Amino acid sequence: MRAWVVDRPGPIEREPLRFVERPIPVPGSGELLVRVRACGVCRTDLHVAEGDLPVRRARVTPGHEVVGVVAGIGPGVSGWTVGDRVGVAWLRRTDGTCRYCLRGDENLCPGSEYTGWDSDGGYAEYTSVPSAFAYRLPKDMDDVALAPLLCAGIIGYRALLRTSLPPGGRLGLYGFGGSAHLCAQVALAQGATVHVLTRGKDSRRLALELGCASARGSYELPPEPLDGAILFAPAGDLVPVALRALDRGGVLAVAGIHLSDVPVLHYESELFHEKELRSVTSNTRENGREFLDLAARYGVRATTHPYSLSNAQQALGDLKAGRFDGAAVLVNDL
Ligand SMILES: [Zn+2]
Ligand SMILES: [Zn+2]
Repeated sequence: MRAWVVDRPGPIEREPLRFVERPIPVPGSGELLVRVRACGVCRTDLHVAEGDLPVRRARVTPGHEVVGVVAGIGPGVSGWTVGDRVGVAWLRRTDGTCRYCLRGDENLCPGSEYTGWDSDGGYAEYTSVPSAFAYRLPKDMDDVALAPLLCAGIIGYRALLRTSLPPGGRLGLYGFGGSAHLCAQVALAQGATVHVLTRGKDSRRLALELGCASARGSYELPPEPLDGAILFAPAGDLVPVALRALDRGGVLAVAGIHLSDVPVLHYESELFHEKELRSVTSNTRENGREFLDLAARYGVRATTHPYSLSNAQQALGDLKAGRFDGAAVLVNDL
């Protein structure tokens, strides 16, 4: 099969990925072999390619927003049949036995493994997934539209939960890419007022088209104080900016897996009055299933930009340069 591998992690402009021939994976015990039809391009893939995230598997194939079809079944799998539609996401495996897993916080499992970082992901014609971590997908959504929901969507949803936004609350979104534009749709469907703070003119237009109440530059103040905010942009210098925009008791959740350094915070204006700063770490399978249900019910739609699989490196470069709104998706049969 054809697959992309991260050959030498470094700036995407220097083309750290290579498109190679690899054997089709053999599904191990409890695993499914998946023929990839579409794979979303996530900012985390860029961090893996550029070495912002340490190498956990040499020459790994990135990609963890996979929509595919079961093409083979390993020993010990029940409930799946060849030909079933299947989704593969970021969280690949947990130990199931640690204190975090046992209390329902499997996203914090120190023994967890991730698709496209610890194991080969979806920038390929085939991949594999433990069946216990595979998702059933809504029937009435096409492959390309679904792919970005599997990480950008799920993580955005967990970030929204982490803000503990009250019903009808005022939510600020800093950055408006793949994850934020899906999160906004859920928040709006649930009755929130959403303000978007982002540098891209096109992103601001998309935000208003989706029904957000305002769209301004990243460093501007929103038109009203916020009950909750989510930082999607990987820019630590926006943390104090977003904290200052919060109302008393407001919560800022940082959605990214990687963030540049946070500047010194000013206690009085940025943390006092019980403002809270929270991180978001991966997601539980329950978050994933719940989000996919809500997405189908609310008609959440990703704005997508299809690329053929062979153009993965270009797609990552375009993501880094902010050359599109919404989410890039690699398609296997373009
Ligand atoms: Zn665990
Ligand atoms: Zn992701």
